[in-house]
Amino acid sequence: MILVFYLLSGVALRSNMSRKTSSRRNDKFSLPKSIKVGYANYLMQMFAPKIQKNDAGDELQQPMGETNTQGHVVKINSEQNFDEVANTMIHELLHAMCYIFRIDFKNELEEEKYVAAFSNAITTVFKDNPDLIDWIKETQHAKSE
Ligand SMILES: [Zn+2]
Repeated sequence: MILVFYLLSGVALRSNMSRKTSSRRNDKFSLPKSIKVGYANYLMQMFAPKIQKNDAGDELQQPMGETNTQGHVVKINSEQNFDEVANTMIHELLHAMCYIFRIDFKNELEEEKYVAAFSNAITTVFKDNPDLIDWIKETQHAKSE
């Protein structure tokens, strides 16, 4: 299943979040090469949207991101700012989590509704509490000592 994210979040996030993952990076946003979600490593890729028009000549909305849940690939639209990329990353990872951990919804529309709400909420909490991710990282270091 490939889930596509079209909605703009309108939330902002510090760009230094979420550095724990694969050490190799790609592109201008320094995306991790992959992110482990349960048993799977999701490859992280950027894509440059192509302007497409319908028969009436209207530009079609470009997806912000998409997740190939079974193929373990997340694609993020490169024509976003850092805030939008962070929210899109969280959004797409929530789709991956739903698939890997079998968090089922009635249908794709229902999943999209909850994933969009949670990704906006999580992004906002991280933005409003910029020390939170550092604190979480510290608890993980303390655990392993
Ligand atoms: Zn989505």
